[in-house]
Amino acid sequence: MTDYRLVIDGTSVTTPETFAVANPSTGGEAGRAPNGDAATLEAAVAAAKRAFPAWSAQDDATLREACEAVAAKLREHAEELSRILTLEQGKPLNGLGSRWELGGAAAWADHTASLSLPMETLQDTNEGRVELYRKPLGVVGSITPWNFPVMIAVWHVLPALRTGNTVVIKPSPYTPLATLRMVEILNEVLPAGVLNSVSGDDREFNIGAAMSAHPDIAKIVFTGSTVTGRHVMRSAADTLKRLTLELGGNDAGIVLPDADPAKIAEGLFWGAFLNNGQTCAAMKRLYVHDSIHDAVCDALVAYAAKIPVGDGLDEASVLGPVQNRMQHDKLSRLVADAAGRGEVLLGGAPGEGLFFPPTIIAGLTNGHALVDQEQFGPALPVIRYTDVEEAIAAANDSPNGLGGSVWSSDIEAARAVAKRMECGSVWINKHGAIQPNAPFGGVKQSGLGVEFAEDGLREYTSAQVVFS
Ligand code: NAD
Repeated sequence: MTDYRLVIDGTSVTTPETFAVANPSTGGEAGRAPNGDAATLEAAVAAAKRAFPAWSAQDDATLREACEAVAAKLREHAEELSRILTLEQGKPLNGLGSRWELGGAAAWADHTASLSLPMETLQDTNEGRVELYRKPLGVVGSITPWNFPVMIAVWHVLPALRTGNTVVIKPSPYTPLATLRMVEILNEVLPAGVLNSVSGDDREFNIGAAMSAHPDIAKIVFTGSTVTGRHVMRSAADTLKRLTLELGGNDAGIVLPDADPAKIAEGLFWGAFLNNGQTCAAMKRLYVHDSIHDAVCDALVAYAAKIPVGDGLDEASVLGPVQNRMQHDKLSRLVADAAGRGEVLLGGAPGEGLFFPPTIIAGLTNGHALVDQEQFGPALPVIRYTDVEEAIAAANDSPNGLGGSVWSSDIEAARAVAKRMECGSVWINKHGAIQPNAPFGGVKQSGLGVEFAEDGLREYTSAQVVFS
């Protein structure tokens, strides 16, 4: 068993108390993390504040090289971090699991390193010169969830560092270990105080809430549930912090009548069940045209029934357990309710411990809890429709708007439907594929602001215009 440590001001430290982090595959302990309090947070924020003047004064090339060094460190330690991630998160090492997440994290780090926001000359005439500078904000507080702990940490930390900010990162109490180890590793190539970590079990002291209200934190980048996102926004109001909020989704997929069930089954499965459905932009509701409804269900069930579910450390596992008990219990309640109302085509009941088999339930409609709520697990409700207008209206009838997808053999017809979906990303014949050069974010109550690409980078800066 390993005790993980924080890094504050370049020094590896711990706290008087630590807390156990569970291994969701076995119910045993994956490791222990420091249980930080107000003093721990103060020390981390003070270190980041002290480091800011020197870091923000670095030239663009130095910041780019530092981010490239971060990407190299992620690659160097990919296997070590993948194993920690599997132990605490449950996702398999193989396939679209931990090693894949580490590969993605390094690729995002590379791309973020390559971006820049140079000074722009807006005007240079006899009347005068107008220059636009993008200036770093100060200390950025990063608060991350438990579904993709390493990847999301990289999405927060790299653009902050690239633009000259310093960072305090706080991982989820369910999955702090890989993040804490990652921060230790990255500190080997960063000056002291530029990247600091704090962790806690959220019981006696809620570090995320304290960060959101902290007067010396200029911006919070938060990925998590919509409910907690609202708390962050309220806590941040007094200091008018800049916010990027990546929140929950309840993504719809619409299968048009001309789609080929055999061709789309695999894409539908991964759209819904990547990371066991514990993906913000997973397909959580599937609307299928009446004419191919049964054929699509049959093809999807045939594909899903073959997926091996097991301990993530077992190289044969393709999906692991549900990450935590709260999530498992919520899912169990929603699936039990839906099973009594619709037709269970696959799965439908919890497995051992935190395991839950891929579950597909047909015969549901909007208004059923499994359709309306973000259930964030390996379950997919299928809804039959006859008129595409009705499907679009049902898909848009949600307070969320993160992603959506359209499935069809006719790309132009699919694109016409895609443009009418109320969400930040829409995919055609796939669901959930993201890339570092395309801005990603939610509309409606799925978030505020975007991540990735220049648009995402700009959110870590303020505009300063110099008129001469
Ligand atoms: P959560 O909201 O419960 O927790 C997220 C983080 O917030 C954790 O680090 C937690 O400790 C911290 N926190 C708890 N109370 C807080 C408070 N009052 N103020 C500030 N921070 C606080 O979310 P979760 O269960 O860890 O993650 C699952 C959710 O995240 C899902 O809703 C999912 O859709 C969402 N998510 C969204 C995206 C996206 O990009 N839109 C990506 C991944 C996950």
